[in-house]
Amino acid sequence: MTKALNVSDGDAGAAAPLITFEVVTLFPELFDGFLSASLLGRAVAGGLIAVERTNPRDFAPGKHRSVDDTPYGGGPGMILRVEPFAAALAHIEAQRGPARKILMSPQGALLDQQKVQALSRLGRIVLVCGRYEGFDERVGSVLCDEELSIGDYVLAGGELGALVVIEAVARLLPGVLGCGQSIEDESFSHGRLEYPQWTRPLTFQDRTVPAVLLSGNHQQIASWRRQEALRRTAARRPDLLARHPPNEAERALLEAQGESPPGLEKGAPKGEAKP
Ligand code: SAH
Repeated sequence: MTKALNVSDGDAGAAAPLITFEVVTLFPELFDGFLSASLLGRAVAGGLIAVERTNPRDFAPGKHRSVDDTPYGGGPGMILRVEPFAAALAHIEAQRGPARKILMSPQGALLDQQKVQALSRLGRIVLVCGRYEGFDERVGSVLCDEELSIGDYVLAGGELGALVVIEAVARLLPGVLGCGQSIEDESFSHGRLEYPQWTRPLTFQDRTVPAVLLSGNHQQIASWRRQEALRRTAARRPDLLARHPPNEAERALLEAQGESPPGLEKGAPKGEAKP
């Protein structure tokens, strides 16, 4: 009935996963590839996270195990019925305990990094995925704790949304990212986009890495990166600056720059190194 994707079963002494995701989906096989390779594959194989999959069709009544029906009031498409989802959620709770129940929906609150951070502090999260024209209203209002959207567009199902939540949350957990990778400075973590980065070669099609990054002066590099992060955020995401207002030093910097010049990555950055 349910498929587990962790390897800690029967492994005496293995630590419990940091988070268990319970995905309720009509297409559990959609998760196979994503959960078996790269970062998530390693997190699952290492027992840091567990992903259980439950198919509401297994809980639908009748020979045809039908999970959908036509909408009251008429209209196109099929609506997911409440009972199979209620039974699937009851099964999950009875088998493995309570969890925060999140309905994937384009009408939910928009997922952002702050929400991802909050979710990373939970031990068990249920992600309920829709299909077709969506859910009977009561799946959200009666069965779930909240509704979450991954963006202002409509997908064919909640599975990609669930994977987005799983990956964004998992990479914040200790031990999931490779050593040396940092979640400290990255985009959104302090209401700013990350500063621009370069690697070899020094020059590519006449574009050269900013000289300050070759200076070896770590203090100067850190302060240059803070400036660039601020400049880039002002140019590309003024909404982030409005929500996380600049401190005094940042405001002075922005004022000194006048209107923050956009498109830094295309032009020649200040202090460009000579090849
Ligand atoms: N008729 C619905 C859309 C249904 S799309 C409406 O207009 O609101 C089918 C399913 O895909 C949804 O039930 C939801 O689980 C998922 N889905 C679609 N877009 C999504 C989004 N932006 N974020 C999260 N889930 C989404």
